[in-house]
Amino acid sequence: MKQLTGKTAFITGASRGIGKAIAHSFAEQGANIVFTHLSSVEQGQVTADELKVHGVEVHAYRSDASNFSAVNDLIQKIVQDFGRLDILVNNAGITRDNLLLRMSEQDWDEVMQVNLKSVFNTIKAVTKPMISQRYGSIINISSVVGIKGNAGQVNYAASKAGIIGLTKSVALELGSRNIRCNAIAPGFIQTAMTEELSQAATEEWVKYIPLKRVGMPEDVANCALFLASDTSSYITGQVIQVDGGMLT
Ligand code: NAP
Repeated sequence: MKQLTGKTAFITGASRGIGKAIAHSFAEQGANIVFTHLSSVEQGQVTADELKVHGVEVHAYRSDASNFSAVNDLIQKIVQDFGRLDILVNNAGITRDNLLLRMSEQDWDEVMQVNLKSVFNTIKAVTKPMISQRYGSIINISSVVGIKGNAGQVNYAASKAGIIGLTKSVALELGSRNIRCNAIAPGFIQTAMTEELSQAATEEWVKYIPLKRVGMPEDVANCALFLASDTSSYITGQVIQVDGGMLT
């Protein structure tokens, strides 16, 4: 028996990278998948077609995770279409890096809207349906940078630290309704987000990783699958680092 048969999962920003790997691991385990993307409609369609090989229902929507009413409408549609929503993964995220001295107000606001407000938007919308079904697993993708801080990323680090506070508070508020809420803090994962770094900069990061390699999106997806499934049914309010030991 597959771990997520009959479950419905909603993942923000899953056209590529970590979100896409999570979608594949959930679909492989029998979950129906609804995911969003923003800039590339074509890439969203390609990913949706790839996910269908797992024999589950897949719906891709172009929807901005930072738009409160759009997210609310989409989640209501998912509940109507599938009759339930079991798993929420808040994965959509962006960077607008710069030293604080040079960071614009717009760079601060955009990162906060997409990385942090989006998490409020989705959780607010799933709370009622998850309470009615007395079941839910919410997984928020934070970052080691949200724990440790990072020069050149005050906006990103603050948004990812905010996700941790939000995660723990939601776990406290909704635990009695059998809704769990956990965060994953990835370290250096090989995706488009980290592709911009030079080979030399990547090698410098690897020096500080005890497992001596960068992470792959599948490393994060394996942890997300554990948190989504009933194997983790007594785990809530936690932040799990998937970082090769970087922050040890
Ligand atoms: P990525 O390759 O850049 O993918 C980001 C995804 O989010 C894309 O599917 C993108 O869709 C979507 N997206 C961006 N803005 C959106 C919005 N406003 N609404 C809906 N979707 C949106 O990034 P990644 O490396 O896989 O990162 C995924 C998550 O992990 C992020 O939250 C990131 O902060 C976190 N993380 C990554 C690393 C790392 O090393 N890569 C480390 C720690 C944490 P479009 O392409 O269509 O815009």
